[in-house]
Amino acid sequence: MKALRRFTVRAQLPARLSGLAELSVNLRWSWHTPTLELFESIDPALWVSGERDPGRILGEVDPDRLSALAEDDGFVRRVDELVEDLHSYLDRPRWFQKQVDGGADLPSGIAYFSMEFGVSEVLPNYSGGLGILAGDHLKAASDLGLPLIGVGLLYRSGYFRQSLTADGWQAERYPSLDPQGLPLRLLTDDAGAAVLIHVAMPAGRVLRARIWIAQVGRIPLLLLDSDIADNDVDLRGVTDRLYGGDQDHRIKQEILAGVGGVRAVRAFTQYENLPAPSVFHMNEGHAGFLGLERIRELRSDGLDFDDALAAVRASTVFTTHTPVPAGIDRFPADLVRLYFGDGGSGSSLLPGLDMDRILALGRESDPALFNMAHMGLRSAQRANGVSLLHGRVSRGMFDELWPGFDADEVPIGSVTNGVHAPTWASPRWLDLAERVAGRELMEEARGWEKLHEVPASELWATRNDLRGELVSEIRRRLRASCLERGSTEAELAWTDEAFSPDVLTVGFARRVPTYKRLTLMLRDPERLRALLLDPDRPVQLVVAGKSHPADDAGKALIQQIVRFADRHDVRHRIVFLPDYDMSMARYLYWGCDVWLNNPLRPLEACGTSGMKSALNGGLNLSIRDGWWDEMYDGRNGWAIPTADGVDDARRDDLEAAALYELLEKSVLPTFYERGTDGIPERWVDMVRHTLETLGPKVLASRMVRDYTVQYYGPASRAGHAVAADGWAGARALAGYRRRVDAAWLAVTVRDVEAEGLPDTPVLGSALTLSAGIDLGGLTPADVTVQAVFGRVDSDEQLHDVVTVPMTHRGPVDGVDRFAAETELPLSGAVGYTVRVLPHHELLAGDAELGKVAGPATV
Ligand SMILES: *Cc1c(COP(=O)(O)O)cnc(C)c1O
Repeated sequence: MKALRRFTVRAQLPARLSGLAELSVNLRWSWHTPTLELFESIDPALWVSGERDPGRILGEVDPDRLSALAEDDGFVRRVDELVEDLHSYLDRPRWFQKQVDGGADLPSGIAYFSMEFGVSEVLPNYSGGLGILAGDHLKAASDLGLPLIGVGLLYRSGYFRQSLTADGWQAERYPSLDPQGLPLRLLTDDAGAAVLIHVAMPAGRVLRARIWIAQVGRIPLLLLDSDIADNDVDLRGVTDRLYGGDQDHRIKQEILAGVGGVRAVRAFTQYENLPAPSVFHMNEGHAGFLGLERIRELRSDGLDFDDALAAVRASTVFTTHTPVPAGIDRFPADLVRLYFGDGGSGSSLLPGLDMDRILALGRESDPALFNMAHMGLRSAQRANGVSLLHGRVSRGMFDELWPGFDADEVPIGSVTNGVHAPTWASPRWLDLAERVAGRELMEEARGWEKLHEVPASELWATRNDLRGELVSEIRRRLRASCLERGSTEAELAWTDEAFSPDVLTVGFARRVPTYKRLTLMLRDPERLRALLLDPDRPVQLVVAGKSHPADDAGKALIQQIVRFADRHDVRHRIVFLPDYDMSMARYLYWGCDVWLNNPLRPLEACGTSGMKSALNGGLNLSIRDGWWDEMYDGRNGWAIPTADGVDDARRDDLEAAALYELLEKSVLPTFYERGTDGIPERWVDMVRHTLETLGPKVLASRMVRDYTVQYYGPASRAGHAVAADGWAGARALAGYRRRVDAAWLAVTVRDVEAEGLPDTPVLGSALTLSAGIDLGGLTPADVTVQAVFGRVDSDEQLHDVVTVPMTHRGPVDGVDRFAAETELPLSGAVGYTVRVLPHHELLAGDAELGKVAGPATV
């Protein structure tokens, strides 16, 4: 019989164990080993079968067992100690509280918006890297004490669960979640009723959502849920699935996340008596509508659209995560008109906002489309990519928004992603690190580098133990998968012997879009087979990953791997494990000796799985893409050479051959070369070097500190500057922008004179440049004038430019003259020009407005 409805009934906890309830609802347990061990000890078998979920343990454990534990003084004491430890974690001042600025300059709050959050497998509200990154961001913000609030949606089914059919095809299931059974609480009003936020829909309808709060350490995560009886049936389904449905479904989700998200933040800070956030961070463009809602708020406070936009931009940070134009979220402009227009009724989703202004924010080269990334960039003064390389790629990809600037001047910076050590490092490494660095450093996720002090024998023993645990986990999952695919117990004795705890183990696990090239390793199946079956130095390979349900090409790649791994000759050395998620990923990162990544460069914006492996002493074997491009140092792993400038098939051939060769000539020999003590000395050196040098750099705490110092702090200060004196700054900035827009066509460099240049100039020769500038009605203080030197190519284009500021020397014959004395900064074929940029103290930089004027072209 199928249940009509499911719900969760919580057990009554004996009074002496009431602390368990508190421990189970704060998701800090998900990265706090002692708390995890406490829950496990309640019922170890149930712990495993219940997917390591404290809420389920408390719901399903035998009441007699709970009564017995309530009588066990030792157990009760551990509960009380852990509750006390949690309180101390929540209350004690942390890194953020110790910043010298001590107040005014630090954000009063940061609202961090993301369409997915991967905090723990018990809350499967994520599909992959983006969501897990957002989860790690919250956890690191908690460890550092940031006043951050996460904002997203609660999906009824989260992302799908993957299994395999007998012939290796991906099958999907969407188990539905019961929020009551999750570590969530509802935001309620003073009378105890659920707070609902309202968002207007076309044709006079209303979409309502309740607000669940997941407590992630110190950080509240607000999750909007439309599945309530107050909504029309179709609107109840808005939060049904992550990345499911058509464009119409998606825009509703993004309106709810962005517009509804801001309203949820307002309700939450009001009911919980918290200050309003001073910074809004869009993690990717999906929640970009939040900027429009904030403009609406300010419009109703009496600001005009321009003033409101200036105010919103100052305090918004936008992070882009894709290096490919096809990866950007775009909606038909007509769909935006449908949802944001008034349909002639006079009432709309965002009253007071002119449709043309809305559309202009998302404009791109195709006028029929509305581009969410462009909207993100236009509604934020500060933007970044997620690795040095991705920052560079993004500057090129979005340079159309800054016409007249070279790509490297486009104001998009970068903060390289990081991973949350307590979540991703095995408890063994965390214990070792605490032993050598001390608890205090580890609490702030510092001191990781001290792991290099651990003796070689212990490092190696740890690696062996972790590989052994992984092999047991592989056997367990392999067996389950074979049964699911139709094998019988009697045929599966071989799975007990599959994989070996002593064989070099390579991991490859990630989503399966084409650019990640899941099947590159199969390019030459015989060569791979020889590597797997080498009698002296074999390799074993564990592969996992989900394909988007609509992506049959991706599913075909999975099938290729599964079919190869099904072959009887190699099945004990290569496996595809279905249902890659956080719970599986953990074992892979802990146990794999080598983490393989072979994307098509530069399509991996950052990549984080290799960082998690590195935290566990895994060595990366990767194309130099994303984070690896900046962090590979020749001794912490291997770089697979990239074959640029050839067609795709040949590129795959060349890069696969390079991969096999690295395995044969370097990876395997280093692993299997043992000293008399059985320890592979060179390997352990590389592990130690990885822990020491990468450990500190790949941490999410480093990432969140970078965001705080480079983005949140400046955005908060800019936000205060525009808000002061009744938004005087916003009005001034908007007025300035209007003046620049009106004047700019007339701004030109009339003439440029160079004086003092000798006949045969040498590097460092002094020269005076002077230029007459027509300011088109702007004042000298409204602009920056620069002399620009660079190497010239055959097209007279300047490269490797050096800019020198020119100062105003007054009007001469009615023309403003600017001049600079300088020394020739470059040698070779050198050229120069003069340019004018808008300048205002409330702009983040002179390139921000995307305007530049030069000499009139003849
Ligand atoms: C870290 C992680 C990812 C992201 O890995 P990439 O290297 O960015 O592809 C995806 N899924 C899970 C479960 C992860 O833990």
